[in-house]
Amino acid sequence: MSEVRKARIATTSLAGCFGCHMAILDIDERLIELMKLVEFDRSPLTDMRKFTQRCDIGIIEGGCCNEENVHVLRDFRRNCDVLIAIGQCAIMGGLPAMRNAIMHSQTPLRDCLEEAFITGKYIRNTTHDIPNDPALPLLLDEVYPCSEVVEIDYEIPGCAPSGDIIFNTLAGLLTGKFEGFERKMIRFD
Ligand code: SF4
Repeated sequence: MSEVRKARIATTSLAGCFGCHMAILDIDERLIELMKLVEFDRSPLTDMRKFTQRCDIGIIEGGCCNEENVHVLRDFRRNCDVLIAIGQCAIMGGLPAMRNAIMHSQTPLRDCLEEAFITGKYIRNTTHDIPNDPALPLLLDEVYPCSEVVEIDYEIPGCAPSGDIIFNTLAGLLTGKFEGFERKMIRFD
């Protein structure tokens, strides 16, 4: 008898805090149930940095604040049938997008970096240097939600999203029974 193929899932964290990945683990004992349906490919959970094959679902935490984020997100779009933006950072930029608020300046990115590394009230930077190592990915002019960079199929709101909403969405999609989620499942704590 042939084995039922497990769905293949990849995950990544772009401009996020890894709280959404921690929320995936909040599924708790239902992880055992979920692991009967899926196996993980590229993901911080497996420490795999590249796709080994095409995936059914890609889960994206965080928005795009630098060129590497855009590259990774496009790679996920190319290699995953369905893309899910998980958490407010992926959906609308979240906390990192606070820097978008200074776009009225003529030099918003420079102003932001100067405040973060030189002029900020609690900064003690005796060299007055802003990090510019060539190994650092170039920052974008502002922080972008994932949906402004690639097409996103589903969004799971929250900061961090609850284990319940993550499990219900994944289990629903994997079994073809996804009908959305109730408002009370969305949390911001
Ligand atoms: Fe962290 Fe919240 Fe952003 Fe998720 S949505 S990456 S938990 S700040």
